[in-house]
Amino acid sequence: MGFSTNLQGKIAHEALLTRQDAELRLIEGMKRCIHVKVKCDRDYAAALSSVASQGLKIDKGDDLVGSIVCSTWKTMMEEIENTAKLIKQNSDALETKALDALNALYVEKRKIRKAYQEEHTRILQQFNQLSEEVVRKKAEYQKYLEQYKLMRAKFEEIYIKGGRGGRKLDEVRDKYQKACRKLHLTHNEYVLLLCEAVEFEKDFRTVLLPGLLEYQQSLQETFILTWKQILQDIATNSDSTSDKFRECYNRIQLNIESIKPIDEYKDFTEKYKTNPAEPVKFTFDESLVDDQGGKLLPNQLTVDNLTVEWLRNKLTELESSIKENQEKRSTLTNNGHNGDNSLINGKTTTTNDTINNRLSLCIETSKKELNELKCQERKISKQIELIKAALNELGCEEAPSACDLSIDNQPAFIDSSTEEGAGSQNTLNKHLVNFDPHRLVSMLPRALRKPFRRRSVPSSPVAPPRTKNRRESATRSEGADPLSVTTNKSLVDEEWFHGVLPREEVVRLLREDGDFLVRETTRNDECQTVLSVCWGGHKHFIVQTTLEGHYRFEGPSFPTIRELIIYQYNSGLPVTQRSGAILYKPIPRERWELNNDDVILLDKIGRGNFGDVYRAQLKNSNEVVAVKTCRVTLPEEHKKKFLQEGRILKQYDHPNIVKLIGICVQKQPIMIVMELVPGGSLLTFLRKKVTSLVEAQLMKMCLDTAAGMRYLESKNCIHRDLAARNCLVGYSNIVKISDFGMSREEEEYIVSDGMKQIPIKWTAPEALNFGKYTSLCDVWSYGILCWEIFSRGGTPYVGMNNSKAREKIDSGYRMPAPENTPDEMYRLMLRCWEYKPENRPNFEQIYTVVETLFNAYRSTFC
Ligand code: ADP
Repeated sequence: MGFSTNLQGKIAHEALLTRQDAELRLIEGMKRCIHVKVKCDRDYAAALSSVASQGLKIDKGDDLVGSIVCSTWKTMMEEIENTAKLIKQNSDALETKALDALNALYVEKRKIRKAYQEEHTRILQQFNQLSEEVVRKKAEYQKYLEQYKLMRAKFEEIYIKGGRGGRKLDEVRDKYQKACRKLHLTHNEYVLLLCEAVEFEKDFRTVLLPGLLEYQQSLQETFILTWKQILQDIATNSDSTSDKFRECYNRIQLNIESIKPIDEYKDFTEKYKTNPAEPVKFTFDESLVDDQGGKLLPNQLTVDNLTVEWLRNKLTELESSIKENQEKRSTLTNNGHNGDNSLINGKTTTTNDTINNRLSLCIETSKKELNELKCQERKISKQIELIKAALNELGCEEAPSACDLSIDNQPAFIDSSTEEGAGSQNTLNKHLVNFDPHRLVSMLPRALRKPFRRRSVPSSPVAPPRTKNRRESATRSEGADPLSVTTNKSLVDEEWFHGVLPREEVVRLLREDGDFLVRETTRNDECQTVLSVCWGGHKHFIVQTTLEGHYRFEGPSFPTIRELIIYQYNSGLPVTQRSGAILYKPIPRERWELNNDDVILLDKIGRGNFGDVYRAQLKNSNEVVAVKTCRVTLPEEHKKKFLQEGRILKQYDHPNIVKLIGICVQKQPIMIVMELVPGGSLLTFLRKKVTSLVEAQLMKMCLDTAAGMRYLESKNCIHRDLAARNCLVGYSNIVKISDFGMSREEEEYIVSDGMKQIPIKWTAPEALNFGKYTSLCDVWSYGILCWEIFSRGGTPYVGMNNSKAREKIDSGYRMPAPENTPDEMYRLMLRCWEYKPENRPNFEQIYTVVETLFNAYRSTFC
């Protein structure tokens, strides 16, 4: 079985050649691959080498002192470097040995293929030639045989015809003999040739071809040995599991095994041994609250109207986060118990060591998380405790006002009969910003405290006997009626019920310990009834509702709030134990506090920012008045702002300032009642009477407004919105300044809550740029107002939008004088528009200028 016996056929021969071609291609392919592999291995070795040198960049110094992990890592990196070297050596060997051997094998095999093919062709050709010769010889044989037959036939013919002699016979005989000779020679040649052919054919089949194939086989088999060796070399030089590599790995392994958690930090802890940390004390720096008059106390939460909601929200937030925390903790605790099995069951292939490590890590992590959760919980519960204690302290008391100033410094609804010089009062306001009435009262010797002004009253049927207390020792004012439940009055009918009177007003009304009133407030859309008491400051108690729908504070409950308050008054018991507040004197509504039902709204005459303005009639006096209403749906803050105008106007009495008659806060809608100024807004008036108004009338309007503003300036009131649209025209065209919604009673007022709804074209640059308002800002607006008057209701900076006008003013532009404006009047306007406020005249000066002008004008033109 081999090439010689099996591969003699033509197809086998072709296949053998094809096979050799394929093998040559295989060698070429291998060469290419090995070439690439050598390159890859070299690159890999270089990359590993740089990884190792990167990995060996470890902190110098003592930071990792004694770390076995670190030294293992170093070994690991060194062994990676060694590995890189080994890979490089192997790739070199691969190149020199395997690649060169493959090249040589390729050359040899090509040569042998060629030789085989040539030899095979040669012997085949030999055989073919012989075969062809036999065919040819046979054809020759046949030809000579024919000639012979022909010549013999001729000879016999002549011989038979001509006898025994004759030239012709000789000729024929000669030819016959020659043909015979030729035939016999050819016959012999043919016989010899056949003999040769038979022999050669036998040799070809049995010796030559098998010999060639046998030789070929032995050569190819020798090549296979070489080839095998080459593959072996490739394998050897690619083996990363060889002993050398294994040694590297073993060294790493040994190092890794030497890592023992217990030993890892031994040297380190020894080297940096220190004492346990000293506890850090967090203490409240008491100097922070030194000048807070006891309002802010170290380590105590401050519960007031500004913080109470925040505290409640904070409490809810903390309570929900503690709940969340507790849930997390219980989940973690449960997982801690079940976790072990799940880990073991889940990873069957993991070694026990790893499982144990992971388990203990898991347990440690859970422990740590649990600790963290516990700490967090402790922290939150402490905060909750603190807030709860602070809120519990409050009980049913409404949170005190953070800025609960003395009643004397409230710029508010002061009865004109009790009004002191408002200027001095405002100066006082500024000095009393930090005034704490509670502290002041407690600082006074009892004898010096103002006597209580309540009369003694007989006990009402529901009243328990009075206790001996502070009230008994107080001098009671004469003439006060006892509070009695016997009449059929409702709460709103009581004089001491003040409806939705703002808290700031309430605080102003309650001046002495024991003064009290009842009012309503809305919190989170819920209407609450509040008992406000002056007791070493102002306390506001929210009436609590029981499940049966009765009302109470801390004591007994009553079916009506009125009965509750009367009980509280007559019993002489403190409203709450904590406050100790006792009701001595019910404070009745001021004359400004009108009953909503006292006002009959007639017809709508205008529309303001907060609601509609009506012509109305007062029930008692039939007086026709103007009433500004505040939309019921507006938020509480807006309602306070609405009342701000009343609060300001209350103090003023001047022919050029619209007069306040009262406020209606008994129920919604709250209203401001004012004198009716029949001509409506000055702006509309000017526009309507464009043609009929003469200069003297215009000058008079400027004089009226200057008079009103001079008065306001003297009261330290900054109007902030002086404009023709905010002035009203009364009988005989008298102009009255109105719309005090933006007014402030301060020498200087800094706006910090944005500049929303600012009348840009009327406002002075320093107010626009820095939010700084003074009376001199009103002076700027007054200049614009005069311009409006003389332009007969013109639009200032017409054709410019607000920002353009602002830009132009900042760059020095000033409006030109309206047509026919007297020069002196325009000069005054320009002085009012001086960029620097200090260069503007004040209203005192303005009034003098306008008055002189008006008088001169009147005497010249009228
Ligand atoms: P708001 O200050 O809410 O903007 P205004 O004071 O501008 O409201 O009043 C709106 C309109 O109601 C005015 O333009 C004017 O026509 C009318 N008005 C306001 N007060 C009076 C009043 N006392 N007498 C007559 N009309 C008034």
